Amino acid sequence: MTRPEKGLSTPIQYLKGIGPKRAALLERLGVVTVRDLLFLVPRRYLDRSQVLPISELRVGDEATVLARVLAVSARKTKNGRELVSCLVRDQSDVIEVLWFNRPDLKNRFKPGQEILISGRVTRFRHKQFVNPSFELSEGGGFSFTQAIIPVYPLTAGLSPWVIRRALRTALDSYGDQLEETLSPEIIRHYRFMELKPALEAVHFPKSLVVAQRARERLIYDELFFFQLLLALRRRAAKGVEKPVPMIEKGSLTRRFLASLNFRLTRAQERVIEEIRQDLAQKRCMNRLLQGDVGSGKTVIALYALLIACENGLQGALMAPTEILAEQHYHNYSRILQELGVRCALLTGSTRSSERTEILSGLEQGTVQIVFGTHALIEEGVRFERLGLVVVDEQHRFGVMQRAALLNKGLNPDFLVMTATPIPRTLTLTVYGDLDLSVLDEKPPGRVPVITRLVTERQRERVYEGLRRRLALGEQVFVVCPVIEESERLELTSAVETYERMRQVFTDFRVGLVHGRLRTEERRRLMEQFRQGELDILVATPVIEVGVDIPNATVMLIEHPERFGLAQLHQLRGRIGRSDRQAFCILIAGDEELAEASERLRYFVATTDGFKLAEKDLELRGPGEIFGTRQHGLPDLRVADIFRDREILLRARRDAFRLVEIDPELEAPEHKRLKATLVERFGDRAGLLRVG
Ligand code: ADP
Ligand code: MG
Repeated sequence: MTRPEKGLSTPIQYLKGIGPKRAALLERLGVVTVRDLLFLVPRRYLDRSQVLPISELRVGDEATVLARVLAVSARKTKNGRELVSCLVRDQSDVIEVLWFNRPDLKNRFKPGQEILISGRVTRFRHKQFVNPSFELSEGGGFSFTQAIIPVYPLTAGLSPWVIRRALRTALDSYGDQLEETLSPEIIRHYRFMELKPALEAVHFPKSLVVAQRARERLIYDELFFFQLLLALRRRAAKGVEKPVPMIEKGSLTRRFLASLNFRLTRAQERVIEEIRQDLAQKRCMNRLLQGDVGSGKTVIALYALLIACENGLQGALMAPTEILAEQHYHNYSRILQELGVRCALLTGSTRSSERTEILSGLEQGTVQIVFGTHALIEEGVRFERLGLVVVDEQHRFGVMQRAALLNKGLNPDFLVMTATPIPRTLTLTVYGDLDLSVLDEKPPGRVPVITRLVTERQRERVYEGLRRRLALGEQVFVVCPVIEESERLELTSAVETYERMRQVFTDFRVGLVHGRLRTEERRRLMEQFRQGELDILVATPVIEVGVDIPNATVMLIEHPERFGLAQLHQLRGRIGRSDRQAFCILIAGDEELAEASERLRYFVATTDGFKLAEKDLELRGPGEIFGTRQHGLPDLRVADIFRDREILLRARRDAFRLVEIDPELEAPEHKRLKATLVERFGDRAGLLRVG
């Protein structure tokens, strides 16, 4: 796919002034070629004409100050992270600036040095900046003489000077090779800057206004092609027809409903109707079901799967983990058997003799509903007549898997379920190729979880509270951050917590589950907890999604600052699943509180998953939340779908309209767009040829 355009594709190490060492550092920022460097658009600008005196800073403001370093100190926080603290002063006052996880900064600051700092003012006991952008003056000045200073994402060892010089060289020597990406009509319509002047303007801005105009063009550019990809995908998906439309007969579904010990909520009924209509179409269903934790999505999945069975078709329910697949099977296999539906559980730990039997059952059509992990359809499992696939709790993979199925020549109806609340406009844009159902009502009688944020010092009191709940026969989750190969620290955290709980709660039974345990072992522990044979379960976020144990009423979260809001919300969703009052308690060290206080306080005060998701987007940016790379969507480098949603909507409208008018992008005036699309997405733009 690479065009003979060596110039811009030149590895960055060969750019004058870079070399292999700096190239390795740049690579961490995603910069591999000269082109990548040119598109390393500043995240923000320090505006030296807008510097505020420290005494006038207000909590919550985004502000820039120009100050001198007074003192620097470094220490470890309780959970072993590096904390660098720098006291700075200007003529009006003094303020503390903190950096977490930047041990390299320890030796960067020298008392007396001039420093520009820009970021949000927060408060923990007193006003401070936490992890702000900054630039130190060196040799009596800053890397820019102009008032507007671009701020690049930096990693240790790279100074803004290096980037700035490299960019000057890159623009001077390679700038002429930049080809315009957008079509003349779009440029004319929005009065956009051309590509080259736009890049010049974002890296070397004469004013904030010009920099902003240039950014807009780059943002639009990125979002437009992203939407064009979605528009083409949607068009391709819409074209797929299934072998047999499914009509609900009611022979199974009615008896299924009767066997439940509750009535469907109105929202559940509405969503089932939406699905029912989709299933009856000739075109394949391609639907995203969004419903907060505990809103009752599984029943809907089962209902739809039974419609497939009523039509002589097979269905698959795929969960993200074996634990969840087992839980679904455990909860529903008996009911299904009573209905005369043959079902099976197929996971990585299914014994091989049983496995062979299930595989042949699927191939011959004797197994009607199969529960399993996502590996189900990846492992070359063959179905006789696969009619419906439901993917639980993994919107990211759902989209990709659909593509994998289509590539195998299978075209079942497709339902993706997620508890990740995604703001509606964003759903439409990020999952623009799916139809959307929203389950916006919880089963009646749920008591909202009470959430508390406490510090280390209150740990004893928290334990007393736990003891009271345990004495009532209720169960407790204790959640620690994930165990990862690279972070020994976290391993000790889960194991240590487990040991501590055992010492403190000698008269109760404590278990530990984490991702490194063998599946067998993990399953046994979860089952013990479910059966009430364990009172306290210490766990890494393997319990995050879907686990349904109503008797667990308390969740203690250690190191809550390590979790994003959406993840915390998922965790909290594991409790409050009965009519008893549930409690979620976050225990944070003082320093950690300082770093994450805004997020954690918001979490305590908010139970609405959608609001939390919006806040998460605002605080962390969409990349981390949507994991765009994982579901096969492009990474966004300049745009931020939250901040730039207006541009996004415009780009979306333009792209979808374009595909309607010229689905193959054949018209001469669209040639340039097609070339850009193919260049950016390579084989993924293969849809162009198929569709
Ligand atoms: P989620 O949407 O998080 O996947 P589940 O499907 O696990 O939620 O359902 C959560 C719990 O609520 C389950 O125990 C389920 O049996 C129960 N449930 C589902 N629908 C209803 C309803 N309409 N009324 C009462 N309980 C329900
Ligand atoms: Mg679920």
